[in-house]
Amino acid sequence: MFFSEELISEIIEKNDIVDIVSQYMNLKKRGKNHIGLCPFHSEKTPSFSVSQDKQLFYCFGCSEGGNVSTFIQKIEKMTYPESLRFLAEKAGIEIGDDVSKEDLEKAKKKQNLLRINKEAAKFFYKNLHVNTEAMEYLYSRGLSLETIKKFGLGFSQNSWDSFKRLVIARGLGEESASSAGLLVKNNNERYYDRFRNRIMFPIIDLKGNVIAFGGRVMDDSKPKYLNSPDTPIYNKGFNIYSLNLVKGIQNLKNIIVVEGYMDAISLHQYGISNAVASLGTAFTEHQARLLKRYANEIIIAYDSDTAGQSATLKGLSILEKEGCNVKVLRLPRGKDPDEFIRREGLEPFKKLIENSMSLIEYKIFNFRKSINLDDIQQRVKFIKQLANVLQGIDSPAEIDAYIKKYSKEMQISEEAIYEELNRTKKRHTNGNNRHNILDSSSDINKVEGKRAISGEQIAEKKLINMCIQDKSRAENILNRVAPDYFSFSIHQRVAEIINLKIKEGKLISAGEIIIHLENEEERKKAAEIFNIEITNHDLELMDSYIDKLWQARIHKKIEELTKKMNEYYEIGDRDRSNEIFKEIMDLQKKKK
Ligand SMILES: [Zn+2]
Repeated sequence: MFFSEELISEIIEKNDIVDIVSQYMNLKKRGKNHIGLCPFHSEKTPSFSVSQDKQLFYCFGCSEGGNVSTFIQKIEKMTYPESLRFLAEKAGIEIGDDVSKEDLEKAKKKQNLLRINKEAAKFFYKNLHVNTEAMEYLYSRGLSLETIKKFGLGFSQNSWDSFKRLVIARGLGEESASSAGLLVKNNNERYYDRFRNRIMFPIIDLKGNVIAFGGRVMDDSKPKYLNSPDTPIYNKGFNIYSLNLVKGIQNLKNIIVVEGYMDAISLHQYGISNAVASLGTAFTEHQARLLKRYANEIIIAYDSDTAGQSATLKGLSILEKEGCNVKVLRLPRGKDPDEFIRREGLEPFKKLIENSMSLIEYKIFNFRKSINLDDIQQRVKFIKQLANVLQGIDSPAEIDAYIKKYSKEMQISEEAIYEELNRTKKRHTNGNNRHNILDSSSDINKVEGKRAISGEQIAEKKLINMCIQDKSRAENILNRVAPDYFSFSIHQRVAEIINLKIKEGKLISAGEIIIHLENEEERKKAAEIFNIEITNHDLELMDSYIDKLWQARIHKKIEELTKKMNEYYEIGDRDRSNEIFKEIMDLQKKKK
């Protein structure tokens, strides 16, 4: 697919970067920029910044950056052309049809699967509302009509072919319905309905598409839950149930993660509107990243049975690795969130949220649980584990509180625990020092990085930014310093593009410039350049910045000429050598 320059500009212009990024994560306005937690690296405090003026994003943490297309490439894992096609579609821009045949087929197939799922969701929804037994069942589980509608719950009839008949009548294709996971083939090569006599929970992605279903029986028959298999449009480990409802909440403080659909729905019914379900117990890093886009604090509220406990620990470590602030909500033995909130109500559940344990508390709690206080060896082992957890805490008051508490309980003196803690810390710092040595050796290779702080580079950066959004100023600057006056190659390249834009009489925006850069590395560097603000004070300093570039150029020129002069001198050409010497003297006069 060929994208003309005009088309690319139109696509980039019509997709406001703040709008697009907001569809993937929570952004807060801070001054001129919008900031949030970087979706591309693990962090607890936001260093990801989006500028509406410049139509660029930049992360101070991992230095990922670029325009709206770069963002889409990164977050949707797309190639550059794919991202343009994706954005064109979002903005309703027609782009010819010379898409590769294969891509087109794939996209068509996915569209078709989405359509089948949508039809199925409507069908199940209608079924539910005419089936008294199913409605009674949901009411008996405490759900209101409003909640049933909000989650689009449905019912699959007690029949082998009721959905199949719909597929045939609508011409949706049995084979397609089977690849959507809704029909299954029997031994006689005949299709039948996968979901029968079940309450249906549509699984909806962040764009509002129905991508899969979960089905639950209303009695004790097995299996209790039946879910769509993974399909071309659904992968269990990549989605989170009801995040589509939670993501729009303004100033979301935290998200509560439960295991089952019913738990999440029940919590919503009772007013806990930030609950999501992890679709099975195997929590994945994709899901962690997805959650982190919308809230930094994640509270896990899994069942208190052993399976739930070990799932909690796994989930915690994955979330922690992704840089989330994780907490654990502890339910009374044998209860799940659905049962608890139905029996006890909203306020007691809110208390559980308030009392949810930090990761540290939860870890200690778990060690503590398995300790037999009568066994001295076990008490000692616990203290070692405690020391290991405490060495990660910065606050001395917090450490002191834990030590006091467990000194009493384990009947081991506070001094002994402190001693244990100090030893653990020493072991850890030794380990870290080794890392530092490695780091500093790799720094030697970053000479370019050290030069980065030079005044010359700052002057070049400032001048480039002054050209943005101001054509006459850009003309003024580039009349006085040609692109090859810039000594850093990326600056030179950007200046060339600005020059081109001036000649074409086009708007000079950072997003536009980035379009012209060939590779990702360049785009990343450019995004970093554009990430500085131009103040009025900078504008006053414009002449001196230009002068800096001139000076650097003169310096370079003198170096070149000196080399030449020496060469002529050595071959005995005194005249040429003297000529060059005069040139050098003239330049020296211009030097400050
Ligand atoms: Zn980052």
